[in-house]
Amino acid sequence: MPTEPSSSEPSYRPTGRLPVAVLGATGSVGQRFVSLLADHPWFEIQALTASERSAGKPYREACTWLQPHAIPQAVAAMELSPTEPEAAAGCRLAFSALDDRISGEAEEAFAGAGILVVSNSKSYRMHPRVPLVVPEVNPDHLDLAATQGYGQGGAILTNPNCSTIGLVLALKPLVDAFGVERVHVVSLQAVSGAGLPGVPSIQAIDNLIPYIGNEEEKIEAESAKIFGTLAEAGDERRIEPAGITVSAACNRVPVIDGHTLCVSVGLGRRAELDEVRATWEGFSAEPQHRGLPTAPAKPVHILEGDAVPQPRLHRDLDGGMAASVGRLRPCPLFDWKFVTLSHNTLRGAAGGALLLAELAVARGLLER
Ligand code: NAP
Repeated sequence: MPTEPSSSEPSYRPTGRLPVAVLGATGSVGQRFVSLLADHPWFEIQALTASERSAGKPYREACTWLQPHAIPQAVAAMELSPTEPEAAAGCRLAFSALDDRISGEAEEAFAGAGILVVSNSKSYRMHPRVPLVVPEVNPDHLDLAATQGYGQGGAILTNPNCSTIGLVLALKPLVDAFGVERVHVVSLQAVSGAGLPGVPSIQAIDNLIPYIGNEEEKIEAESAKIFGTLAEAGDERRIEPAGITVSAACNRVPVIDGHTLCVSVGLGRRAELDEVRATWEGFSAEPQHRGLPTAPAKPVHILEGDAVPQPRLHRDLDGGMAASVGRLRPCPLFDWKFVTLSHNTLRGAAGGALLLAELAVARGLLER
């Protein structure tokens, strides 16, 4: 069953807009953060950071803006800061879209300065004291943050890999209703997932690249952590990974945004087609129950038709925050197979991290 906040569980909401920083604001994910935060009811951008190459320049000058609307006026002329904790003075919250080569050290420094860092990078996702959270799937794992010991409210929270997020969103209702034992997933991933400047056009156009470095390992390991159980013994808290076997095969395709996954799933108990559909149809979870600003109305959309979902047509459903599913049919190897699609830089990165930050605020992580 979906996790609902109990009636006694408080839901915090900021009284005004909280000042926040975006780390790595010039990149593919950083730009999405800037767009999503422009009119956010709870958060307001106070600082933008990037590399030494960009620091000191106005945001509009240093950034190759690729979004389909103008740079938000409030930040266009904002001066980029170097990625150091001083840049976020006065902020309790920072969103990290930093390059993986710098994210580990930088995020630790910000957390050490008493800042709640919500990160998209891989650096701490599998760390035993760092929660790896999809708000509709494992919100209780946020309790792990209290074990980090940074002091002054500092902590690191992580958002999974962009393909993992779509996969676990589609699987969550099935895990709760029937149990899931085995998953085989083939991904068809958009070029924006490779950051800026991205995959060279000579490799991407008219082509498919059947390899994305470390992606298969990330999907397999992250899914087991996300579906794992938060175990507590005295002061000790840790995640016991779920016993789900996931096998992933990842491919880069010439799509700008939107990762498509072809999934075969082996369930813990037999389920009819109508039962599987009904679990997706009725799925809602803590972000929807709390009415978080970035929560999609429906985390999973079932699409009708033979040739759905498609990235160009369906990636922006529910503000780019939903996973869409289609082509549910019997699988001769496992039980059922289907196709799922989600937006990799929205639900799979900046939007997912924003929803995670909203959940953390609502659960009182900034009250510590
Ligand atoms: P990106 O386009 O390459 O952007 C990287 C950002 O990091 C830029 O703002 C860059 O600033 C900054 N940076 C690079 N080197 C730096 C340094 N030495 N010091 C400080 N800042 C530095 O990458 P991205 O695709 O946005 O990805 C960002 C993170 O999100 C990565 O960890 C990635 O794995 C993860 N992620 C990406 C996606 C996706 O779909 N793209 C999805 C999920 C997660 P400059 O402009 O100054 O170089």
